[in-house]
Amino acid sequence: MHDILVIGGGINGTGIARDAAGRGLDVVLCEKDDLAQHTSSASTKLIHGGLRYLEQYDFALVRKALIEREVLLRAAPHIIWPMRFVLPHHKELRPAWLIRLGLFLYDHLGGRKLLPPTKVLRRKSTGKLDALKDQYRLAFEYSDCWVEDSRLVVLNAVDARKRGAEIMTRTACTSLTRHADYWEAVLQGPKGKETRQFRTVVNAAGAWVDDVLGLDGEAPEKPHLRLVKGSHIIVPRWHHGDHAYFFQNGDGRIMFAIPYERGEFTLIGTTDVPYEANRDKVEITPEEIAYLCKGASAYYKKAITPADVVGTYSGVRPLYDDHAVNASKVTRDYVLKREAEDGAPILSVFGGKITTYRELSEHALAELKDDLPNMKRSWTRGAHLPGGIYRVVISGNMLTDWSCAIRGWTRPCCRASPGPMARGWKTCWAMQLLRPISAGLSGPA
Ligand SMILES: Cc1cc2nc3c(=O)[nH]c(=O)nc-3n(C[C@H](O)[C@H](O)[C@H](O)COP(=O)(O)OP(=O)(O)OC[C@H]3O[C@@H](n4cnc5c(N)ncnc54)[C@H](O)[C@@H]3O)c2cc1C
Repeated sequence: MHDILVIGGGINGTGIARDAAGRGLDVVLCEKDDLAQHTSSASTKLIHGGLRYLEQYDFALVRKALIEREVLLRAAPHIIWPMRFVLPHHKELRPAWLIRLGLFLYDHLGGRKLLPPTKVLRRKSTGKLDALKDQYRLAFEYSDCWVEDSRLVVLNAVDARKRGAEIMTRTACTSLTRHADYWEAVLQGPKGKETRQFRTVVNAAGAWVDDVLGLDGEAPEKPHLRLVKGSHIIVPRWHHGDHAYFFQNGDGRIMFAIPYERGEFTLIGTTDVPYEANRDKVEITPEEIAYLCKGASAYYKKAITPADVVGTYSGVRPLYDDHAVNASKVTRDYVLKREAEDGAPILSVFGGKITTYRELSEHALAELKDDLPNMKRSWTRGAHLPGGIYRVVISGNMLTDWSCAIRGWTRPCCRASPGPMARGWKTCWAMQLLRPISAGLSGPA
């Protein structure tokens, strides 16, 4: 009998599988499609505290995410890197004092050690506002990080497998039968059906969490999830420089414009739209494209039209329904629910962010501690992901890291792809090959 079945090969499922395997547990992960095929490759790809959640007084989430930001940067500097965000002051929207206060909190809430702090930019003394309309004369520049989201998922799966987990892609869990002290699960994969036994089940099925809860024949009385679609557009490079923009919209929402694919493109997103359609195929609508073009064009000198859009991608946020009226106000924090009333336990993961997956995984395993007493201590804080052995170094106000030195080699094979992950696996093996060379450069941190 195995210790844990993890259902779902997104960031939360692979993160939990890696953590559990490293604690000496016998882990199987099944993913009905490919690793990171759904929400975990459709994010804005930020490792961030979430500046806008301060406005919702969600200080606990922002602090947790800010702490994780530097933990993850140290763990995987080959696929996560610092980015400066320029937030232009819009006179008719939030007052400058409020933004300063928010950024002061953002700089100090999460024990920032590596990333440079916020600074004020004025048009006359910086080129970073040149791409924007002349009315934007003042801006605030702050730090966050960017991640190759699908690669983060693959690296967690690679590490989980290296530590003994069995990773079954293209394999759906189609039935769960609960017994007093174990689960019987039917796994349907490319080679057919098989039935296995597990002491515990972790339901990390993202937008399908409620469906998995119904696999034992007892659907939840009312759904826990609220699905909110977010879409991005990709246009040719709309501004020069490595920095991203943080734009405030008149409707209270915000959007990012981020250098994408080695700066050759600009990624703009995102929307926040309630969603009930096909979860396997999530697509942008013409209205969302128009919304994103209009929002960015309120800032850029050169307007963006739907004809400029060269690519799009969309994903659904599987948020825990806290009954917020507005889709963009539903909490982005995660909720874990362990249920064991009628026998063996199942732990379900609702919501969450890429940024908090490692901490979520630790928390999930703490919830199962009594069910799996042979579990070893937590270990992932401070552990590198495969290939991430470079030391992150600060010099003056600049952030440099050894991975930058080899980024010229790694980045061509580091592209995040919203599609199937065959390329991702190759990428990982490419990273493994680079390892001896990079180890020679920096030595383990
Ligand atoms: C537009 C958008 C932007 C975002 N931007 C950010 C950001 O910048 N930073 C950030 O930190 N977070 C961001 N997020 C949030 C983040 O992307 C999600 O919280 C996270 O990816 C959810 O991961 P997950 O593992 O729970 O779900 P998923 O990645 O969807 O994984 C769940 C997996 O379960 C599988 N599955 C379902 N049912 C079964 C079954 N029966 N058997 C086997 N497998 C099954 C599915 O195929 C799926 O692959 C964003 C989200 C969206 C939508």
